[in-house]
Amino acid sequence: MYNLSHRILGKYSLLPFFFSLFLLVILTKQAVADKTPLKIVATTGMIADVVKNIGGNLIEVQALMDSGVDPHLYRPTSGDIRALTQAEIVFYNGFHLEGRMQDVLKKMARSQATYAVAENVDAPLIYADDQVIDPHIWMDVSLWNKVATYVHKTLSKHLPESSNELNKNFQAYDAKLKQLHQQVIKQIASIPSKSRILVTAHDAFAYFGRAYNIQVVALQGINTADEFGLNDLIRIQNVIVKNNIKAIFLESSVPAKFMKSLQKGLIRKNVEVAIGGELFSDAMGKPDTVEGTYIGMISHNTKIIVRGLK
Ligand SMILES: [Zn+2]
Repeated sequence: MYNLSHRILGKYSLLPFFFSLFLLVILTKQAVADKTPLKIVATTGMIADVVKNIGGNLIEVQALMDSGVDPHLYRPTSGDIRALTQAEIVFYNGFHLEGRMQDVLKKMARSQATYAVAENVDAPLIYADDQVIDPHIWMDVSLWNKVATYVHKTLSKHLPESSNELNKNFQAYDAKLKQLHQQVIKQIASIPSKSRILVTAHDAFAYFGRAYNIQVVALQGINTADEFGLNDLIRIQNVIVKNNIKAIFLESSVPAKFMKSLQKGLIRKNVEVAIGGELFSDAMGKPDTVEGTYIGMISHNTKIIVRGLK
């Protein structure tokens, strides 16, 4: 009698254990299902960085363009098309920054959640001419913060159940961007006003110039596909000589030879001008470096510009 009841009790005493195990498996499966990150593809590294900062662990983002890649000239590969097709959300800059991806992006927009971040920002824009809007809005941190706001709003729409986490991430990033904006204002203001002229390869810094009170002169227009000629070289040489500019700057996504030939031309005229360093204009630095983030890229540019012109 004792043995029998003991055996029955022993057998049933394992029930709560199996029930707990069963619950654990179900709950874990549920958690894994809930935590599957949303698949996002962004064209530029700058956009992917904003998405990463706000989406955190809720998303998985891939940038199509690596460091050093010029978005104006970039043509999508077959791997890019596959990634875009499989993405749950596609973010791109817009205003024709991705000039050679327009057809693909337009096609994507018909069947998938596709957003042009710059085109959805309520901000005073800069026109290169009557028709063409300058797409380089990330150069003004306060405008890029509006892109962060838009990305936050968009992700919240797609992940309503994670709004608390998204809000928290956004608030932290927003504070960092506000701080960065103030730092850039302060640092550029430390350059004497008569030396505050930024000479670069292509016209990517107009928003930077407007936000941080520095005159911007570029060899090429806002699109690196634009041609430039002898007249442009002479125009810039005159600005450099007239204003006694100490340094001109390279860009990581534009061949260095253009600015180097400008420098050589000036040396032949006995005008000394230094190459002040390399700026990140249309692409961030290498992954896993400080400059491989948006904040690091802007901080680097500011430091290089101040060091070259001061
Ligand atoms: Zn550009």
